[in-house]
Amino acid sequence: MAKDTSKKGAVPDWYAEGLGHVWLPYAQMMTASPPLAVARTYGARIVLADGRELLDGIASWWTACHGYNQPHIRQAVERQLADMPHVMFGGLAHEQALRLARRLAGLLPGDLSRVFFSDSGSVAVEVAMKMAVQYWINRGVKGRTRFVAFKGGYHGDTTGAMSVCDPNEGMHALFSGVLPRQIVVDLPRSDADLAALDELLARKADTIAAIIVEPLVQGAGGMLFHEPVVLQRLRALADNYDLLLIFDEIFTGFGRTGTMFACEAAGVMPDIITLSKALTGGTLPLAATVATRKVFDAFWSDDPKKALMHGPTFMANALACAAANASLDLFEREPRLAHVARIAASMEQGLAPCRDLPGVKDVRVKGAIGVVELDRIDDLAALRARFVEEGVFVRPFGNVVYLAPAFTIAIEELKILTDAVVKVVTAAN
Ligand SMILES: *Cc1c(COP(=O)(O)O)cnc(C)c1O
Repeated sequence: MAKDTSKKGAVPDWYAEGLGHVWLPYAQMMTASPPLAVARTYGARIVLADGRELLDGIASWWTACHGYNQPHIRQAVERQLADMPHVMFGGLAHEQALRLARRLAGLLPGDLSRVFFSDSGSVAVEVAMKMAVQYWINRGVKGRTRFVAFKGGYHGDTTGAMSVCDPNEGMHALFSGVLPRQIVVDLPRSDADLAALDELLARKADTIAAIIVEPLVQGAGGMLFHEPVVLQRLRALADNYDLLLIFDEIFTGFGRTGTMFACEAAGVMPDIITLSKALTGGTLPLAATVATRKVFDAFWSDDPKKALMHGPTFMANALACAAANASLDLFEREPRLAHVARIAASMEQGLAPCRDLPGVKDVRVKGAIGVVELDRIDDLAALRARFVEEGVFVRPFGNVVYLAPAFTIAIEELKILTDAVVKVVTAAN
């Protein structure tokens, strides 16, 4: 159990001296609550510098799927560190990257088989977008430069990725004039939405390179779910209008929605898939953009101009690839997906009392994602602080309180998390 969570310990020197020099994520620095000083982590626990322990409900932005400090991953990284932390991927190759590429190609459905490594999800999305645009250029088709993306979507914070986010998330208004203009529409959930998208594509398909979507769950845009049929419709539209289909599985990949990849549950194959977040089990930054044979073939040529001109400095970092290989070992050896199913059932039960609370709009669970959507959250900072008082780390955003814990979390620990959500949401309304 968490220790006394009301204790205010001393602030360490590194915190007091350094805080004035960092620029924090997604924060108005003048008014942001100061971050919690963390000393170490283990399992599903975050140990604060003042000795308090928080049970982590969101696995460090959904990355630490095997819990923190997983010994098999740690040993793999330590071994790799002794041999070779990094070599450039231009002109040089190494075992961890090539093993990882082969394993990802084996795990992914269909012939998603050519892996381009990068170091963050946003960059993986940039690479996917670049691949899609150049796919048409290489095939001699002109003018297919835009993307169809969806309201509620989130694909990252770099310029290209921002342009395919929900216009509010992607701050399209603030950066108008800077961002490429894309076509952002409603997901075709209903027949009317489908007809509208079909009509739009009939007019504009020859200006469009690809459709990009987060399959089954739109994460950072609001933890919104959709049915597999939506993806089947997008695949049919892409085929009909000869567009590429990109699945951004940076959040949903590696078991989060209950299957290894969300596209498996939908039975739909994209032409390009992006992966990151849980790829290294939350230990090191790494991302991958994986293309099908069809996409790769458009670049396969004796013409240097048809090459994909991209190459991050830390591409296929050996430590990160070693961590990713170790993470895949754990998916092979341990019953991760079976436990995800137990987590889903347990969250369903644990969050159910929220359904009847005033101010609660919806309660939904898919895989190891549990969401309580409120009518609105007036004071996010206060709500976040209430969770810390309960001894848990949960970070509501927009109008949602959600859990996305490590897949190794014990069911008793999960109960502490869902109880905290029920208690805090009850008190908030
Ligand atoms: C987090 C996320 C990204 C961006 O990844 P970064 O590593 O933060 O750049 C892109 N797409 C989806 C679906 C994500 O969840």
